Amino acid sequence: MLEKLKEALGAFGSFFFMPPLTNPKLAIDTLRISEAKYRSLFENIDQGVIYLDAAGIVMAVNQAAEQLLGLPRDVIIGRKFADSCFKVIKEDGSTFPEEQQSSALALHTGKPVEGVVMGLFNAERQSYIWVVVNSVPELRVGEQHPYQVLMTLTDVTRQKQSEGKLSMASVIFNNIGEGIFVTDKDKKIISVNEAFTTITGFTQQDVYGRSAGFLQAKKKNLKSDDELSGLTGNVTSWQGEVWRRHKSGIDFPSWTTVSEVRDSGGEVLHYVHVFMDITHFKKAQDHLGFLAYHDPLTKLPNRLLLKDRIDHSLQTALREGSEAAVLFLDLDRFKGINDTYGHAVGDGLLREVAKRIKNLVRKEDTVSRYAGDEFVVFMENIPDAKNPAKLAQKLIDTFDAPVYIKGFRLKISLSVGISLFPQDGKDTDTLIRNADAAMYRAKKEGRNNFQYYSLELTAEAFEKMSLECALRQCLDRHELILYYQPQVCLKTGKLVGVESLVRWMHPTQGLMSPDQFIPIAEESGFIVAIGEWVLQNACIQMRRWLDEGLQVNKMVVNVSAVQFLRSDFVAAVERILHSTGLAPSYLELELTGGSFMDNSEQTIKALNRLVAAGIDLTIDDFGVGCFSFNNLKRIPVKKLKINSTFVVDVLNNANDEDITRAVIALGHGLHLQVIAMGIESNAQQNRLMDLGCDEGQGYLYSSPVLPWSNIFQQLM
Ligand code: C2E
Ligand code: CA
Repeated sequence: MLEKLKEALGAFGSFFFMPPLTNPKLAIDTLRISEAKYRSLFENIDQGVIYLDAAGIVMAVNQAAEQLLGLPRDVIIGRKFADSCFKVIKEDGSTFPEEQQSSALALHTGKPVEGVVMGLFNAERQSYIWVVVNSVPELRVGEQHPYQVLMTLTDVTRQKQSEGKLSMASVIFNNIGEGIFVTDKDKKIISVNEAFTTITGFTQQDVYGRSAGFLQAKKKNLKSDDELSGLTGNVTSWQGEVWRRHKSGIDFPSWTTVSEVRDSGGEVLHYVHVFMDITHFKKAQDHLGFLAYHDPLTKLPNRLLLKDRIDHSLQTALREGSEAAVLFLDLDRFKGINDTYGHAVGDGLLREVAKRIKNLVRKEDTVSRYAGDEFVVFMENIPDAKNPAKLAQKLIDTFDAPVYIKGFRLKISLSVGISLFPQDGKDTDTLIRNADAAMYRAKKEGRNNFQYYSLELTAEAFEKMSLECALRQCLDRHELILYYQPQVCLKTGKLVGVESLVRWMHPTQGLMSPDQFIPIAEESGFIVAIGEWVLQNACIQMRRWLDEGLQVNKMVVNVSAVQFLRSDFVAAVERILHSTGLAPSYLELELTGGSFMDNSEQTIKALNRLVAAGIDLTIDDFGVGCFSFNNLKRIPVKKLKINSTFVVDVLNNANDEDITRAVIALGHGLHLQVIAMGIESNAQQNRLMDLGCDEGQGYLYSSPVLPWSNIFQQLM
C-alpha cells in the first residue's frame, strides 16, 4: 500500500513526512494532507522548481518554472533538461555544456551545487532570462548515486540588467569625451572622469571636496553653475555657457549641462555637470560674426554694422541732446586706377585708404567701408557743427602724400560730404543720403574738397578753416600787433597799470579783434605760440617804458586757460622774464575761470610758483563764466576784475549794481583789490567809486592804443 502511494506520488514521495506506519489508514490520510500542502507550496512558490531523474529527464515542474521557460509543463516533462528546446547559456553568452550544468554536476558528484548563474531561453518571450540555480541531489539510504535532483531557479534578470546598466554607465563615464564632475547635494565635488582631467588639468585629488564654483572663471561668468546647480521646483536640468578655468590659469568657455539625481523619495542626491570645451567653436562663431559685420578686404565695419551703430548712437544723441555727423567719402578717380594697374593694386589702395582714415579719427568714431571706393565715417557727440569739417580737411590732406602699392606711386584724392544730426536728418538713412548728396556737390566743385549738406555751413567752415590756416602764419609774417590800455586808480585817476591787448593784421581782412581769432587759436592749440609772443613783446615794451621813465606799476597780460594749463607754462614765463630782463614784480597775469577749473594740486603749485617769483595774479571777467567760489580760498590771487557787462548797467540795473557791490565786498573781505572793466562815463566811474571799487579801465580813460600814444604820460 505504501509502495503504491509512493508510486502515485512519484517524485515527491521522498520529501514526505513519514509518520510511523502503525496505523496504515492514518498514515495514508496524513500523507494525503501532507501532499496537498506540499503541492500547494510547490505550485505557489516564487522560485522555479524542476525535478530531474538520474538520467537528467524532467519529472516535475512548478508554475514558476513553466513561466521561466515560457513552456507548458506537458512540453517540459519527460524531456531531458539538455534537450534543445531548453537553451541554456553562460554569463558570457556562450552555450552552457550539459555536463557543466549544476544539475549534471549534482547528479554526478552527489553533492549540492549552488549559486550558478545561467541564461534560460524563454520560449514565450523569445529572449533569455537570467536565473540563479541551486541543484540538490537526492540519495536513497544506502545508495551512492542520486536517484533524482531538485533544481530551484531564482529569476535575477532585473538585477543583471541594472548591473549591466551600471557597468555601461561606468564605461561611458570614463570614455566619453566630455568632462564630467559629480557633486553631492551640498555641491561639493565627489567624482570626476578622465576627460575632466584632460580638459581642465585638474585631477580628482585636486578638486575632491571643493565646491563646483571652484572650477569657474569668476571674472567672465554672469551666473555661477554653483548657483545653477541649486535647481529648484520642476527644473531638473540646465544647459548653458560657463567659463571655466584650466589648472594653468587660462580661462576657456564650456558648454555645460547640469542635471540633478534624486532618490526614490524625491530627495536630491547628486548634481552631474557635463561640459565640453567650446573654445574652437566660439572662435569659429566669432569669426563668422566678424565676417557678417565687416568688410573682408579692409576689415572695417560694413554697411550693416555702420547702420546698427548709427541707429544706436542716434537714440543716445536724441536723449542727451548731443550732435553727430556723417562723413561720406569717395575716392576721386578710383576706377581709373583699378583699370590701369589692376585689381590687386586697387585692393591694396583701398586697404591703405582704410588705414589712413582710421589713423585720423577719434576712438569713438566709426569708419565703415560702405561700398566699392566709398567710405563712411560716423562721428558721435561732436562739440560743434564745424568740428567735422576739420576731420574732413585732415582726411583730404592725408592724401597729399602719395600711396605706394606694389611699387606703383599713386596719387589720389577724396571728395567728402557731411551731414549733421539733427539738422540734416533724424534717422540713419536720411543722414547717409544727405551726406552722399553733399559728396556729389564736392565732386562737382572740382573734387578733393568737402561740402556740408547745408550751404551756409560749408561757407562758414571754409571761412574758419582759411582763417585758421592764415593764423598759423601770423607769427612768421609778423602780423600780430599789441595795443595797450591804461588802468587807473579810481581815487587819484593816476596810471597804475597797462593791459596788453593783441590784434591781428589779417593780410586781406585788415585789423582783426582778438574775439575773432583767439577762440580759433585756442581750439588748434596755436594760442600757446601766440601767448608767448604776446608775453615776450609786452615785457619788452614794459622794459622800454621803465627805461624811458614812465611811472607804471604793472604790465597786465591776458593768459588763456589752454596756455596756462600746459605743464611748461610757468617755465615759459620765467624764461621770458629772464630774456627780456623785466623784474617779475612788474608783471601781472590775468587768468580766466577756466584756468582753475580742475582745482588740482598741479594748478595750485603753478600759481604759487608764479606768486613766489613776484608776479601778481588777477581773475579776469569775474562774475561771468565758470568759477567756483571755493577756489578763491585756495588760489593766491591779488585782484578781481569785474566784467564790463556789469559796469555798463551799474547805473540802470539794480541787479548789476547789487552784483558789483557784492563782488567788491567779497574781494575786500578776502583782502583782494577790485578793478572794474569797461568804464565809459564819469557817472559809472563815480558809482563804482561810491561802491568802493579800487581801480578802473575803459574808454573814459583811454581805448586800447599803440605804445607810442602819449595818453600814458598824461595819466601819470
Ligand atoms: P578782456 O581781457 O576782457 O579785454 C577787455 C576788452 O574790452 C578789450 O577788447 C578792450 O578793447 C575792451 N574794452 C576796453 N575798454 C572798454 C570800454 O570802455 N568799453 C567797451 N565796450 N570795451 C572796452 P579786445 O581788445 O577786443 O579784447 C577782447 C578779449 O580778447 C579780451 O577781453 C581778452 O579776453 C582777449 N585777449 C586780448 N588780448 C589777448 C591776449 O594777448 N591773450 C589772450 N589769451 N587773450 C587776449
Ligand atoms: Ca583781460
